[in-house]
Amino acid sequence: MTITENKVVLIHYTLKDNSGETLDSSEGKEPLAYIQGIGNIIVGLEEALLGKIVGDKVNTTIAPEKGYGVRNEENIHKVPLAGFQADGDEKLVEGMQVRVETNEGISIADVSKIEGDEVTLDLNHPLAGETLHFNVEIVDIREATKEELEHGHAHGPGGHHHH
Ligand code: ZN
Repeated sequence: MTITENKVVLIHYTLKDNSGETLDSSEGKEPLAYIQGIGNIIVGLEEALLGKIVGDKVNTTIAPEKGYGVRNEENIHKVPLAGFQADGDEKLVEGMQVRVETNEGISIADVSKIEGDEVTLDLNHPLAGETLHFNVEIVDIREATKEELEHGHAHGPGGHHHH
């Protein structure tokens, strides 16, 4: 069986950035299960894995445009510090991540700067603008069930678990 649209694929992967630092890996964990062709994983990785078979090892470099997107200055907002009500005893510090309400719902923002009574929030994906280096091994390929396609994610090991 080869990887085509709507197949459930189980992969082991290691993701590194341009400097060779590991950002994420399935090593020591169960493989990741995704459905090919529906955007469960970034488009650059779907393209690299299309047509592969179990046991194949894929090394691929993915540009930001086909990864987590380019950094967008419009996703950087300056807001008054007074808008942040102390949540419990956690003090707002640079580098912290906070939940913010946007037009598209709740989003995670990086507190990139605190200056005077002004906070700079960065709503870009943490990996936006990064060139991604993936090492992938294909562990299993199977047909997606009707239920998995309806849910838009894989079930079972490495996928979603419903309780
Ligand atoms: Zn489900």
